[in-house]
Amino acid sequence: MTDPYAWLEQSLATIHRADWYRSVQPINGRPGATVVLAGQEVINFASNDYLGLAGDERLMAAATAAIAEFGTGSTGSRLLSGHRQLHRELEEAIASTKQTEDSLVFSSGYLANLGAITALVGKRDLVLSDQYNHSSLKNGAILSSAAVVEYPHCDIAVLKTQLSEQRQNYRRCLILTDSVFSMDGDLCPLPALLDLADQFSCMLLVDEAHATGVIGKTGAGCVEHFGCTGKQLIQVGTLSKALGSLGGYVAGSSLLIDFLRNRSPSWIYTTGLSPADTAAALAAIKIVQQEPQHRAQLWQNVHYLKNLLQQQLPNLKLLPSESPILCFQLPSATDALKAGKQLREAGIFAPAIRPPTVPTSRIRISLMATHEAAHIEKLVAVLKDINYTDHELSKTN
Ligand SMILES: *Cc1c(COP(=O)(O)O)cnc(C)c1O
Repeated sequence: MTDPYAWLEQSLATIHRADWYRSVQPINGRPGATVVLAGQEVINFASNDYLGLAGDERLMAAATAAIAEFGTGSTGSRLLSGHRQLHRELEEAIASTKQTEDSLVFSSGYLANLGAITALVGKRDLVLSDQYNHSSLKNGAILSSAAVVEYPHCDIAVLKTQLSEQRQNYRRCLILTDSVFSMDGDLCPLPALLDLADQFSCMLLVDEAHATGVIGKTGAGCVEHFGCTGKQLIQVGTLSKALGSLGGYVAGSSLLIDFLRNRSPSWIYTTGLSPADTAAALAAIKIVQQEPQHRAQLWQNVHYLKNLLQQQLPNLKLLPSESPILCFQLPSATDALKAGKQLREAGIFAPAIRPPTVPTSRIRISLMATHEAAHIEKLVAVLKDINYTDHELSKTN
């Protein structure tokens, strides 16, 4: 008899050989522009906490007050014993920011996507999904049992052809896209996607995880940025990035939200978001609405870094980006790991992102409102140094 678990070791060995192996590293203390990573102080370019709110005293105070009032757990599904007025306040605040009729809070952004997609489409339906979409959109599509077709990244022409050829064979159709692509930093062509959705009678779900609090005049996301506020579409997002907490949401029409409350398995059959997370996210939304200066500072930092890189490292080819996420590609996972390690030794935390997360290995830099000019200057100085000494990195330009 063979050991039915023996394949685990072989599989891990394969992962190691490809330099795809990953493990966790502890960060001590509060999150921020600098953190202590495995005992070493580093400048943090690896965080999704774009506005620096995860370490904000007001979020922490709101979370602590909610624990004092409601305890630590919400004790049940929202439909049974897990619903609090606090959840409703948060949902109203999200809907007000997004200017939608309503919203629904899930326990994570991942679960929001799984829950929305599986409720909206099934066996007789078609899902069209950008090739670079987040894992939660891809797995939501698979879990829904709909036919799934991927279109090349942001390629409206191919998407249109696929719709012309296939739309009529299915009952409902759902187009899925990230708004800010999480591992590249570019934006989806939202107005063109809305036009196609209209033309071919498709629903459109846009995942604003990296855009909420960051993009758009009031931080409402790409929908606002592209002037599409008020259009019929399904917006998903997370409370765990710029909003500094944990949880996810779907925002849209009252009908949509009412339907999801009745049909979303990942909302119905899971425990309501904890009081602390709910209160922290609510405090964050108020800050996003009332203090645009954090978003302004974030964008100032993005422009400062882009300008410095252009002046001092003109050969370093950044992937096209319209967000605080900046990436440069490397020829292999091994090269990316090497660059990540050199950055880390110089006090910069900007991780190598490798397959299977992305098709090509890269270093991913994400900026925060709380980065100081000196942090950004240090990053550029270290990148210059690496470029100078590391043959592989300079070869990629
Ligand atoms: C991070 C992310 C999610 C998942 O959100 P969580 O709240 O962390 O589960 C979903 N979609 C995209 C595009 C993301 O970047």
